[in-house]
Amino acid sequence: MESHKTLNEEQRSDTHLSQLASVGQIAAGIAHEVKNPLTAVKGFLQLLNQEEKNEYLNIAQSELENALTTLNNLLQVSKPDLQEEEYQSIYLSEELEAILNLFQDKMYDISILTDFKDTDAMIYGMKNQFKKAFFNLIKNAIESIPGKGTIKITHTASENEVIVTIKDSGVGIPEDKLKLLGTPFFTTKENGTGMGLTQVFSVIYQHGGRINIVSKENQGTTFTIKVPKEHRLQKRGVRKLNLKFSKNDTIKDFLFANRTSFEERLLDEAINVSDKIEEIHTLGNINLLQNAHKLVLFVVEEREHELITFAKQEGVAWAKNSITLAFKLEWIQAIRRTLWDFLYNYDLRHQTEVKRDEFFTLEKKVNELIDQFLTYFFISYSNYKDELLASQRKLVENLSVPIIPINDEISILPLIGNIDGTRMSIIEDHVLTSIGANHIRTLIVDLSGVAYMSDDTVFQHFARLIRGFSMMGCNTVLTGIRSEIVKHMISLGINLNENAVSKGTLQLALNDYIFKKDI
Ligand code: ADP
Ligand code: MG
Repeated sequence: MESHKTLNEEQRSDTHLSQLASVGQIAAGIAHEVKNPLTAVKGFLQLLNQEEKNEYLNIAQSELENALTTLNNLLQVSKPDLQEEEYQSIYLSEELEAILNLFQDKMYDISILTDFKDTDAMIYGMKNQFKKAFFNLIKNAIESIPGKGTIKITHTASENEVIVTIKDSGVGIPEDKLKLLGTPFFTTKENGTGMGLTQVFSVIYQHGGRINIVSKENQGTTFTIKVPKEHRLQKRGVRKLNLKFSKNDTIKDFLFANRTSFEERLLDEAINVSDKIEEIHTLGNINLLQNAHKLVLFVVEEREHELITFAKQEGVAWAKNSITLAFKLEWIQAIRRTLWDFLYNYDLRHQTEVKRDEFFTLEKKVNELIDQFLTYFFISYSNYKDELLASQRKLVENLSVPIIPINDEISILPLIGNIDGTRMSIIEDHVLTSIGANHIRTLIVDLSGVAYMSDDTVFQHFARLIRGFSMMGCNTVLTGIRSEIVKHMISLGINLNENAVSKGTLQLALNDYIFKKDI
C-alpha cells in the first residue's frame, strides 16, 4: 500500500523533448533577428542622450538593456552556438567529476554522492554543450535544496546508451509545473532566467538522447538522462531501412520511389553540409539535393560521359562562388554512403543475395564513377581558379599600362606611380604590341605621375624603349617629366631628344598635336 501511494504521488514526466527543444530554437532564432534592430536602437538612443539629457531617454535605455539581456540569454541556447562546436568523443563520467569540482563551496550543507559505473562508455557530441547541460542540472539540484540535503549522481551504460541520473532531496516540482520545464523563461526563482533547462533539453535532443523527470513535492527530483553511445563503426555500416519497393523495380525506379527517404538519409549523413544547403543555394544557385539525385542517376545508369560533364560544371560553379571545398567532399562522401545503404536495401528486398563476383563488380563500378566525379570536379575547380588568377593578373597589368587612343593615329600613355624593372618590362610588352596592332603614329607618354624610377638600369631600359618606338615608326612625345628624373638622365648621359620630343605638360602636347591639327 505504502509504495503504491508513493508512486501515485510521484509526478512523472515523459517530457515532449523534441517539441520543447524546438521551441527553444525557434525562440533563439527570433531572438537573433530581433537583436540586431534593437542594438541599432540602442546606438541611436546613446546618440540622442549625448545631444540632450532627458529622463525618458534614460528609462528607454535601461529598459532596452533589460530586453537585450533577455535576448542574450535566449541566444545562449541558440543553434548557431551549438553548431560552432565540433563533435568529439566524450566520457561523461570524467566531465561530471570536473563539473562537481566547481561546486566545492556548496558541499558543507549538501553532501554529493557519486556512483560512477561503466566509465569507459563514450558518447559522441559537442563536449562544451554537454558540460553546460550537466552544470545546469547540478546547479538546479543544488538550488532546490533550501538547507541541508543530498544529491546523488550515478553513471551507468546499457548496450546502447550512457545513463546519468541526478537525484536531489530538494523541494520537488508540483505536477502542474512539470510540463512547463524546459520552456524558455519558465522559472520559479526570483533571479532565475528559466533558460537552464531549455539549454539542457536542446542539447540532449540534438544528440538523440532522452530525459525523464520524476519528482515528488518536498522530497526531491530525479533527472534521468540517456544519451546514445558512440558507435561510429556501426554507424558507418549498412543499415536496413524502411523503404518503398515494388517487385519489378529497377534500381532507378527504386531510388525514384524513395527520393524523399534518400534525401533524409543524405542530410543525416552530411551533418555539416545540411545546415549550409540554403546558403549555398542562395549564394551560387546550386541545388545540392537536386545535384545529388543527378549524380546518383548517372552512377547507377553508368552514364560516364554525362557524369564527367556534370562534374566539370559543378567544379566551375563551386569555384565561381568560392564555396568551401570541404563541403563538397563531405557531400559526395555522404552521397556515396547513402547510395550504398540504398543498394543494400534494394538487394535485400530483391531477395537475390548477389554473388560475390557480382558484388565486387558493382562495388568497383559505383565507387569508380563517384571517384571520377570527384577527380573531374577538382580538376575543373582548380583550373577555373587558376584561370581566374591569370586573368586578374592580366587585368592588373593592363591597368598599370593604360593606352588611351585619342584618334586613329595618336594615343596617350599616362604613367602613374613608381617604375621598377618588372613594371618597365610589362610596359615594354604592352606598348610595343599596341603600337603594332593599333598603328599608333604618335604616342604621348605622360610622366607627370611618375616620381622616380628605381635604378639606373630602368632609366637605360626606358631610353631603349623610346628608341624602339621610333624604330616602329612611332613618334614619342614626352610630357610632364619631373626635374629629378631629367637630372638623373643627364647624369647617366642619356639623351632622349634624338628619338622623342619633349613638351612641358600634357595640355601643351594635346594642343600641339590634336587641336591645332584640326583647326
Ligand atoms: P532557472 O534555474 O533559471 O529557474 P531552469 O530552466 O534551470 O531555470 O529551471 C526552470 C525551473 O524548473 C526552476 O525555476 C525550478 O522551478 C524548476 N526546477 C528545475 N530543476 C529543478 C530541481 N532539481 N528541483 C526542483 N525544481 C527544479
Ligand atoms: Mg537553472
